[in-house]
Amino acid sequence: MSRPVDFIEAKKRGEEHPAGAIRAWIEAYMAGQVSDAQMAAWMMAVLWRGMSPAETAALTQAMAATGERLDLGSLPGPHVDKHSTGGVGDKVTLVAIPLLAALGLPVVKLSGHGLGHTGGTLDKLESIPGFRTRLEAEEALAQARRIGLVVAGHSARLAPADARMYALRDVTATVDSIPLITASILSKKLAGGADAVVIDVKVGSGAFMSREEEALRLARSLVATGRELGLTVHGVLTQMEQPLGRTVGNALEVREAVEALAGRAEPDLRACTEALAAEALLLSGRAPDQEAALAQVRQTWSRGAGLERLARMVEAQGGDPRVVEEPERLPLAPVEAELAAPASGWLERLDARRVGEAVMSLGAGRRREGDPVDHGVGAVVLAKVGQRVEKGQPLVRFLARDEEAARDAVRHVAAGVRVAEEPVPPLRPVLGIVRNPEDG
Ligand code: URA
Repeated sequence: MSRPVDFIEAKKRGEEHPAGAIRAWIEAYMAGQVSDAQMAAWMMAVLWRGMSPAETAALTQAMAATGERLDLGSLPGPHVDKHSTGGVGDKVTLVAIPLLAALGLPVVKLSGHGLGHTGGTLDKLESIPGFRTRLEAEEALAQARRIGLVVAGHSARLAPADARMYALRDVTATVDSIPLITASILSKKLAGGADAVVIDVKVGSGAFMSREEEALRLARSLVATGRELGLTVHGVLTQMEQPLGRTVGNALEVREAVEALAGRAEPDLRACTEALAAEALLLSGRAPDQEAALAQVRQTWSRGAGLERLARMVEAQGGDPRVVEEPERLPLAPVEAELAAPASGWLERLDARRVGEAVMSLGAGRRREGDPVDHGVGAVVLAKVGQRVEKGQPLVRFLARDEEAARDAVRHVAAGVRVAEEPVPPLRPVLGIVRNPEDG
């Protein structure tokens, strides 16, 4: 390849890189011939100058090629995956994939541990006593063949370039670049063997993308890059101004997912799950259109088939399946504190980011890879935006390990609450769907 400094210089000037040069750049980085400093400088140039769809696709492919590729060939195709850009109280995976498995669509879900103010699916599941998320590829595939679903940790061997580049982006203010986010997400999906992916692109204060226009640009980039790579991507834009559903925190969210699958889902959690599961069915070819897909999801949900699948997954991965019948078996922290409405009126704002940060400070999340996680702490959301509230009425209940931590959480979230004197409309849970126009 050309000298690293010339490659960086080209992007600094806004030039388009040929696909071969991008491949050589990533290979050189993984071989230690491009330093972290040079990679960081290039990523900052990408952040400012952008990349074309062809460049983004080449980067995605180059990153996917740095490691192993999971072969899902022993499962009936097409292989549809579900991904979320991350939100506060986002337990949609725990509800959606048991429903999809019950609908005959096997899902091998490779997830990460949570970082920052949003929780990871693995942390949630690990609140179930005994539940194992470290599975070898063969074991994960055998389980998916047997019961139709598996959630396991990402192997470090899939798209290892992404882990290194993401860690660098985190400390060089280069996370929020649409082509870099696109390549990061899709390289892991390609390496994980997916043919199609439905991506939940969260929008709002608790999400990566706080504005709808930005989220729409990301969704379009994901769809367009997928098309270049032969990966069909549908993006569903969903609300993240307030926490999703009624709970935030690991064990609390597993309890809520169980309740939801038993038929008692919060309206916003139900709407997001239905929309995402229906897109997955559409992508799999198991439903002719969105209406038919939604009808299938609702019918399966109402007969409790998803709950039964979740129990089978918990058991298959070494967890205590009784948590599905008796969710009170999941550990909860003992100290409670409530945040009260500051005035009577209509709840206008309950800032998702602040709730996420508060729950993380209670110990539910990790600031750095490898930090321990407390599964029992969290928040129960008692009022949603648009609801009438009376002064002093509890809006959020925190579960903490000690009084001081609980008081800090109340204070932190109080600054993100607003009550209006006039009625305010509830937030729309699903904001839009981006599909490839050529898919028809
Ligand atoms: N999720 C990812 O996996 N990567 C990003 O860059 C952003 C969100």
